[in-house]
Amino acid sequence: MHTRWRWVLFGLGAAVAAAGPVAAAGGPWYGYLFGGLWFLMGATVAWRSFKMGTKLTPDAIESTSLDHTSAIQWCDVKAVEPDRRRSLIVFHTIAPAVHAAGKKRPLTELSLLSVKKDVVPERTLKQIAELQQALAQHRETCTACGARPKAQKQARLWTRLRRAISRK
Ligand SMILES: [Zn+2]
Repeated sequence: MHTRWRWVLFGLGAAVAAAGPVAAAGGPWYGYLFGGLWFLMGATVAWRSFKMGTKLTPDAIESTSLDHTSAIQWCDVKAVEPDRRRSLIVFHTIAPAVHAAGKKRPLTELSLLSVKKDVVPERTLKQIAELQQALAQHRETCTACGARPKAQKQARLWTRLRRAISRK
């Protein structure tokens, strides 16, 4: 999952990277130095934004934003819901946020600008639905956190009850 912002940032990074060598061509020695740095900076942004996004694996949500990569284990996830936050003072952004291990972790790489208050954009709703579906799927099959251990516990309770009743 990712947003169109990825391509905007990728384009910006690539443009900066391309400008470096162009500016350095035929210049003095420090022109090459700054051109090189410029190129590195642009290439880093382009590369990071290309990798930006959210990947769902059977065990975890892998979240890659512009500045860091992290994984949230499905077993820790309590819920997924939209998270609105203020950025750049004027703009509000909205992104799916994952409640996990007592913390709220917004998937910032999926942020969308949100001008209207109290409205969740369709793209965000879709992403949340996708995340919730993956969470439900994990719980169905996971023996550590899912429905199975609960069913086992209930079964054990039943056999204990039955034993207690038959003893009388
Ligand atoms: Zn689990």
